Amino acid sequence: MYVRGVGPRVAGLIAAKGIQTAEDLLYHLPFRYEDRQHPRSLDELKAGEMASVIAEVRGTSLLSTKRSPIFEMTVGQGNLAMKCVWFNGGYLQGRFRAGQTIALFGKVEASRTPSVGRTMKMIQPQFELIPEVSEDEETRLLEVGRITPVYESLGGTQLASRWQRKVIFRLLESFGGSPGAVPECLPQSMLDRLGLPDRASALREAHFPSEGTTQIALMEARTPALRRLIFEELFFLELGLELKRRKAQKQLGIAFDPSDQVRAAIREVLPFHPTGAQKRALGEIVADMRQPHPMRRLLQGDVGSGKTIVALQAMLVAIENGYQAAMMAPTEILATQHYLAARKLLSRATKHYKVVLLTGSLDQDRKRLARSQIFSGEAQLVIGTHALIEEKVEFDKLGLVIVDEQHRFGVLQRFRLMKKPGAAEPDVLVMTATPIPRTLALTLYGDLDSSVLDELPPGRTPIVTRRVPGERQDDVWEFVRKQVAQKRQAYIVYPIIEGAKDDQPELDFARADAEAVVEAPAAPAKKTRKGKTAKLFPAPESPKSTKLDLRSATEMYDQLRNGALSDLRVGLLHGRLDADEKDVVMRRFQRGEIDVLVSTTVIEVGVDVPNATVMVVDHAERFGLAQLHQLRGRVGRGAAKSYCLLMTGERVSPEAEERLAAMVRTQNGFELAELDLAMRGPGEFFGTRQAGLPGFRVANLVRDRDLLELAKKEAAAFVTTPEESVTEAERKRVWGHLRHAWQRRYGLMEAG
Ligand code: ADP
Ligand code: MG
Repeated sequence: MYVRGVGPRVAGLIAAKGIQTAEDLLYHLPFRYEDRQHPRSLDELKAGEMASVIAEVRGTSLLSTKRSPIFEMTVGQGNLAMKCVWFNGGYLQGRFRAGQTIALFGKVEASRTPSVGRTMKMIQPQFELIPEVSEDEETRLLEVGRITPVYESLGGTQLASRWQRKVIFRLLESFGGSPGAVPECLPQSMLDRLGLPDRASALREAHFPSEGTTQIALMEARTPALRRLIFEELFFLELGLELKRRKAQKQLGIAFDPSDQVRAAIREVLPFHPTGAQKRALGEIVADMRQPHPMRRLLQGDVGSGKTIVALQAMLVAIENGYQAAMMAPTEILATQHYLAARKLLSRATKHYKVVLLTGSLDQDRKRLARSQIFSGEAQLVIGTHALIEEKVEFDKLGLVIVDEQHRFGVLQRFRLMKKPGAAEPDVLVMTATPIPRTLALTLYGDLDSSVLDELPPGRTPIVTRRVPGERQDDVWEFVRKQVAQKRQAYIVYPIIEGAKDDQPELDFARADAEAVVEAPAAPAKKTRKGKTAKLFPAPESPKSTKLDLRSATEMYDQLRNGALSDLRVGLLHGRLDADEKDVVMRRFQRGEIDVLVSTTVIEVGVDVPNATVMVVDHAERFGLAQLHQLRGRVGRGAAKSYCLLMTGERVSPEAEERLAAMVRTQNGFELAELDLAMRGPGEFFGTRQAGLPGFRVANLVRDRDLLELAKKEAAAFVTTPEESVTEAERKRVWGHLRHAWQRRYGLMEAG
């Protein structure tokens, strides 16, 4: 589609930002709005607020300081004035003339050198010079005396807010009264029922809010226009997921029979009474397994809630029905642990079950043997890592797949195993290690039914969590020694394997987080340039000294073993050991031959040593909430009282403070997950993009939870109970739009 103001060169530039069509451009919504309807007077500004003002440029100066040049500007309104300051502001030199009108947006601070008529200042404000009427009337029209949209730049200053305003305004204008230009994609009766505006007016209002719209409603995305666009986006996501679900329900799967004989086999191996939640979850799983359609179920439960045993019971149902069951774990340690646990459990049975382990690090001969046993059907229970999908593994009669996800498998991999040749629509149970906030579960796992283990096995005592500053580490070691004297074991976890030379922190975001920890220079360098102003409080440029003073697993292992813990049996575990070495260390710890395990986050997921009662996390400020929660979940697995000691380094960012405080405050994984999501946003929640989380254009999972629930409900109703008021043409349009939206937005998660 031809858009005025977008030639081939610009089209290429914005295509790189994912804007390929006029529709994409229309859905590139402002990230904030400036209320320039009622210009604020300089004397009503209050220190601490974010404010937007329009004033006249009075004068500028560039101060050279030792560190970086500071650009100062005095702006005025009548006899009122204000000073604005930009650090590293050399690039602003020469860009202003006295008498120009400028719109400023930034944080107001009390001036340290107030004078009459000048009591406030702005530090690093974002700005736009407003052209004179004679210069550019159109721009003035879009930027003065109205609520002005501010966009994230699509390329430098050239394609910043001003450019987008014009192009989008012209685009909307060109549609004029022709209603077909932005065709409606939702049924009219649905819009009426939900009180949402039509698509064309919603887009117009989202870009150029009409008079009387409040700033707060816009910023909180509560205007009808924004709600409509968010609902639309979420509705089509949920509709696609709903179709996927229904498609699986229609496919032919295996109807397992949970006969008395099967139940007896399960009872024989169960080492304890399942909790109520475990019984309920297993009930739901078995009910699915009985259906002649493939199961697609998510098993959620906090660390230690006992998911493994539920999975094993489900696998027994499959095996007793003459099928093979496979379980995929995210790491070799975990796969091995599941393997050992399964063998131990199944050895309680009178019958013999053949359990096979397949991981990437097995030698070729053992791999070949495992593969042939899997192919022949001799292997009844197969446990492995990615190797199960990545290498050529063919099953004889695969009936059930358990994916122990622990945040590490992407949606993509999940679907790949489901589609394995020879694995004709087996049942699939996905387990997640950490509770997932409901909004994320609804989107990322919206195609799955869900069971929740919301009860811990009996006899657990709450874990005592404390923060300890690093200087007090001697007290911590003393405490560890006392616990070991009582025949307990301890973990001590570090964020990195080796010291300052280490270029591979085991913790993915240790580096990113360090940016927040290293003291921020007052001046965010280049980033504040006009147009590139998405962040109100920009992060500092990536600092050079991120690994300063970081204690590491290897170094502390040497230090502790020769010092504070010299009379204890200390072991070392990290990701650079080869699989055999890891295995040996883990087993010795499990058998109690190691008292204290110094480690990195490789022990994070699923490791189960009930005798361990102390979890020391050093540099706890560098870990994410989900990770801290996982680590803490390694203790408190037996009846003895357990402790989690969060040691911190010298500098703790405010965000890290909040995380640590949350850890001390609560042990509820769902609560921590919600907080984690709120603090980091959905993209970061899973650590990587490969988690397959759809990227949203308008919606925000933290903010729009109510609309997500609504969209899910409406999507389900649309599929199952067609409303009479919805015309055939409208239905067709919905399906057409769905196909289009899913192809464009969610790519690989193809619809239908
Ligand atoms: P998750 O994988 O959910 O973190 P696990 O399956 O590893 O939890 O179980 C945690 C611990 O609790 C294990 O030591 C397990 O043997 C034990 N456990 C599980 N279910 C029960 C139960 N119903 N009663 C007693 N102990 C249980
Ligand atoms: Mg587990």
